[in-house]
Amino acid sequence: MKYISTRGDSPVLGFDETLLAGLAQDGGLYVPNSWPYFNNHDLKQMAELSYIELAQVIMKPFIGNTLSSTSLASILEDAYSNFDDDKIAPLKPIAENEYLLELFHGPTLAFKDIAMQFLGPLFEHFLTKKGKHITIVGATSGDTGSAAIEACRDRDTIDLFILYPYGRVSEIQQRQMTTVVASNIHCIAVDGTFDDCQDQVKSMFNDKIFRENCALSSINSINWTRIMAQTVYYFWAGLKLRSPINKISFSVPTGNFGNVFAGYVSKKMGLPIEKLIIASNKNDILTRFFKTKTMKLGKVYSTISPSMDIQISSNFERLLFELYDRDGSKVKNLIEKFRSLGEFSIDQSPFEQTMKIFDSASFDDNQTSETIKKVYAESGELIDPHTAVGVSAARIHHSDPVTSLITLATAHPAKFPDSVKKATTISPKLPKRLQGIFDKKEVFTRLENNEKLIKQFINDTLNKVSIK
Ligand SMILES: *Cc1c(COP(=O)(O)O)cnc(C)c1O
Repeated sequence: MKYISTRGDSPVLGFDETLLAGLAQDGGLYVPNSWPYFNNHDLKQMAELSYIELAQVIMKPFIGNTLSSTSLASILEDAYSNFDDDKIAPLKPIAENEYLLELFHGPTLAFKDIAMQFLGPLFEHFLTKKGKHITIVGATSGDTGSAAIEACRDRDTIDLFILYPYGRVSEIQQRQMTTVVASNIHCIAVDGTFDDCQDQVKSMFNDKIFRENCALSSINSINWTRIMAQTVYYFWAGLKLRSPINKISFSVPTGNFGNVFAGYVSKKMGLPIEKLIIASNKNDILTRFFKTKTMKLGKVYSTISPSMDIQISSNFERLLFELYDRDGSKVKNLIEKFRSLGEFSIDQSPFEQTMKIFDSASFDDNQTSETIKKVYAESGELIDPHTAVGVSAARIHHSDPVTSLITLATAHPAKFPDSVKKATTISPKLPKRLQGIFDKKEVFTRLENNEKLIKQFINDTLNKVSIK
C-alpha cells in the first residue's frame, strides 16, 4: 500500500515512511491510495477472532510487506499487554439495543491508548531497523499527551515534546503527563488554547529546516497509523453484534475528527455501518457544518469534556479529500480559505454524501451532566462526560429500534471525577495504576504561545540531550 497527501503535492510514501513522517510536506495529511475491502464472507470469517487476531487481519493490507506477520503479531501483543481487560475493548449493554464500547482500559484511561500503545513499539521497530532517532512533537487537549508519553517513555530512538494548553486540562490529565520521570519526555505548558498548541505543531512541520534538523515526527491523529489502529475496534464491536446480519450505528464523542474518521474508514472497508453520529459539546462547529454546509470558526469554550474543546478538527481534511473524489487541489483551496477567512462552504453533492453517512448533535454541560445521572440511574454504569456527550447524541438519533447503537466510551469516569460526582454523588474509584499520582512531583516548562520561544526550547533541550 502506498500513501498520498490530501493536498496532492507531496511524495508518495510507503507505510513505514508515512508513520515516521506524520504530516505531509505540503501541509496535507497522508491517506492510503486505495481502501482495502472486506466482503460479507470475509466478515463472517473474522467473527470469532480475538482483538489482536482481528487487528492483524485489518492492518495487513495497510502495512503490506513493510512488516512481517510475526513482527506485527509481536508488536500487537506488546501494545495490548498493558490493558486491564483481556478483551481490550469490552462491549457493555446499557439499555435495549444500546451499548458502550469501553475504550479506556489502557494505561492512561482514555481511548487514545488503543492507537498510541501500538504506535510506541511500532516506531521503535522501524527506527531501530533504520538506525534513526526522531523528535516527536505533539499537541494535546488532555488525553493524547499522556497516552503518547506512556507509549514513548524510555525509548532511546525517540525524544517526545508535548504541548498542552496551560490551565485547560484536568488535574489528573496534567499529572498523568508531568509526573512521568523519563529523560526523553518533555512537557511544555503553553499559555493558550489547544488550537494554539496544534497550530504551533503545524508550523514547526511547515518549517523545513527545523523539521529536518530535528527529524520531526508526529503522534497526533494527523498520523495515519493512529486512524488505522482505530478502525479495528469498529470492526470488533460490529462483529460482536453480529454484523452484517444485524444493523449497527456508532455515536462518537468528537474533537479532532480522528476517531469518527476511523469509523468512516471502517465503513469504506466494508463494515456495514448505518450511521456515524458526531457528538460534540458546546464547541459545535461540526454540528453547525452539518446544518449549514459551512465550516465557520467560532471561539473555543471550556467545558466538562475538555478533550473535545476544539474548533479546528484536523482530520476533517481527510473526509474532504474523499468527498471531492481525491482532488488535492480542491482540498488545498478549501483549507486555505478556512485559514485566511475562518470559514469555507462545500458544494451540494459532497454535502449530500455526508448527510447519508453522518448525523450530528451538540450538548452543553448541563445536558451532559443530566445524561451521566440518567445512565447511572438506569444501568448502574458511571460514565465520563465525553462518553455522556456520545450517549446523549446516540439517544437523540436512535430512531430505528432494530439498529444497535454503540457509543464509544472514550474515557474512564475516574479521569473526570468531579463532573461524575457532581452528577451522581458517586466518586469513581481511581484504578490502581493511577493511585499515588497526586503525591508525585511534577516537571514541566511553561512557555508563551510564541513560535520562536517554543522552537528554541526544543532545540536547546535536544542539544542538551545529545551532549549528555
Ligand atoms: C481525544 C478525545 C476525544 C476526541 O477524539 P477525536 O479523535 O479527537 O475526535 C473524545 N473523548 C476523549 C476522552 C478524548 O480523549
